[in-house]
Amino acid sequence: MPTLHRKLLLDIFGYTEFRGPQEAIINHVSSGGDALVLMPTGGGKSLCYQIPALARQHAGYGVTIVISPLIALMHDQVGALLEAGVDAAYLNSSLTAEASYALEKRLLSGSITMLYAAPERVTNPRFLAQLDSLYERGLLSLFAIDEAHCVSQWGHDFRPEYRALTVLHERFAKVPRVALTATADDLTRDDMIERLQLQEAAQFVSSFDRPNIRYRLVEKKDPTQQLLRFIRNEHEGDAGIVYCQSRKKVEDIAQTLSDEGIPALPYHAGLDAGVRQANQDRFLREDGLVMVATIAFGMGIDKPDVRFVAHLDMPKNIEAYYQETGRAGRDGAPANAWMSYGLQDVVNQRRMIDESPAGEDFKNVMRGKLDALLALAESTDCRRGRLLSYFGEILIPNAQGKYQCGNCDNCLNPPDLWDGTDAARKLLSTIYRVQQHSGISFGAGHIMDILRGKKTEKVAQFGHEAISTFGIGATLSETQLRSVLRQLIANGALNINAAAFNTLQLNAASREVLKGETQVMLRESEAATGRGSKAKRSATTAAKTANAALDMAGERRLKALKAWRAEVAREHNLPAYVIFHDATLIAIAQRDPQHLSDLDGISGIGAKKLMAYGDEVLRAVHS
Ligand code: ADP
Ligand code: ZN
Repeated sequence: MPTLHRKLLLDIFGYTEFRGPQEAIINHVSSGGDALVLMPTGGGKSLCYQIPALARQHAGYGVTIVISPLIALMHDQVGALLEAGVDAAYLNSSLTAEASYALEKRLLSGSITMLYAAPERVTNPRFLAQLDSLYERGLLSLFAIDEAHCVSQWGHDFRPEYRALTVLHERFAKVPRVALTATADDLTRDDMIERLQLQEAAQFVSSFDRPNIRYRLVEKKDPTQQLLRFIRNEHEGDAGIVYCQSRKKVEDIAQTLSDEGIPALPYHAGLDAGVRQANQDRFLREDGLVMVATIAFGMGIDKPDVRFVAHLDMPKNIEAYYQETGRAGRDGAPANAWMSYGLQDVVNQRRMIDESPAGEDFKNVMRGKLDALLALAESTDCRRGRLLSYFGEILIPNAQGKYQCGNCDNCLNPPDLWDGTDAARKLLSTIYRVQQHSGISFGAGHIMDILRGKKTEKVAQFGHEAISTFGIGATLSETQLRSVLRQLIANGALNINAAAFNTLQLNAASREVLKGETQVMLRESEAATGRGSKAKRSATTAAKTANAALDMAGERRLKALKAWRAEVAREHNLPAYVIFHDATLIAIAQRDPQHLSDLDGISGIGAKKLMAYGDEVLRAVHS
């Protein structure tokens, strides 16, 4: 088997080496074992079921059913397999009755290698009856359950239809199942095992590290300008995703970017379905577009050359953040994950949890998850270290006893620290005294005004000039105080009560800080120290393009190859990367091939593609 797997890897996909645990997973699944595969986005999950599907079809086991939640993407996934010469198809509501009928006939003959379908389709009685027929004849080879975290309410893409997939195990006990996901926290994992009855399955947990992604979290200060600078300085002409929380903001930012000459499209659930689909198609098919989107965008987007993911608002937890940022750099080339966050993000996320109709237990879990993300945002140590240890990975420290990835903002530009203990105590005691004085709680703005001694209308109205801490924080800037507040909230030493106008309330942990028992070390805000430019300078090396090695003639060849690829992609109605990845085109341009045999060994050119496109590629290179 293993030699067959390697042969399939090379012949069909044009790759010479398996990545990480791929081979072990493939061996296990191919020989009929159940598996739960946890691998980061871009880790190469698809091959973990595609190669077993091919190997098992080859051995006479018949059809693999791939369960995938997104109908919109099946077309491209299947298109990529067809390009590679694999007999694949998808069954969904976009097919005409005739096409559907013809496909069912092919399915029942057991000849298709992979059939993609949505969970609701797989579990409908008519389809199950067809699977029965295949099963009875020994032609049902494998179930691959993609995006398996959708079965869990703890995941961020809960799909009730996934729950019905238990029928697979009950009804087709002898058919192996492989469930795959990029969501790895313990709660979700346990839920997947239980809901999908994978107790006996082998678990393959990869490192979740994405070493080519550079993490940067900056303080929010005129976010639109910050975003514009980030894109202009580092991502001119690149494809990227900008996540915003609200639909309105999505539209505003998309418009602003377009006005500023950066080609951008909006995507959110409130757009007409046709527009949404058209925008997604353009993003996948064209080079260098920026998609401005709510979280509605992205699951399963397998565009490999997204060079940056920017968050203008903070997501709700680390899982979501990691999944969203993971959409950058799937091709392994350098990419940026950039986020701007501020106090308002903290307040908004808290409020959404507090106001949700969920039960108190659920809310507490969600609060804990949000806190972990806040702690990441405020951290002064390696961001990657934080992320990986959140996912339970063991980190190997350096000689100084610290983990340092060397590819995040904190590693590249260690932030200056200042001792915020005193400022924190002043803030907390102001909150305490105001509460004592007026018998009610107030929000952050008013508390900061009192501390800084600002004689606002509200201060006069409530007589807060009389508070003993009035004006004792006059030397502290608002930026500093906001940072103190965020970090107190992030560390659980202060509560925000969303049910009462986002007022600030002390808790047990506040007391320790008040008494001076806890030291509060804070990161110096960039805005306060003018460190922004320094950070920017060193970060500009982040997304160095992979084609740096090309000379002028090579660049010309690459351009011709890209033009050729665009044409083929249009003809086939597929995204360009399905024809060849950028990395493959760059390798071709670099090699300057004269004969077909010169294309040997270039990663990404399988036998079918060599036959279909070899001559055209040579012609494009020499055009
Ligand atoms: P995931 O589903 O885990 O996010 P994919 O299966 O889409 O990742 O793979 C990510 C990219 O890596 C794809 O473009 C795929 O072609 C490529 N890839 C996967 N495995 C290999 C490999 N062994 N060698 C080279 N490229 C690979
Ligand atoms: Zn780091």
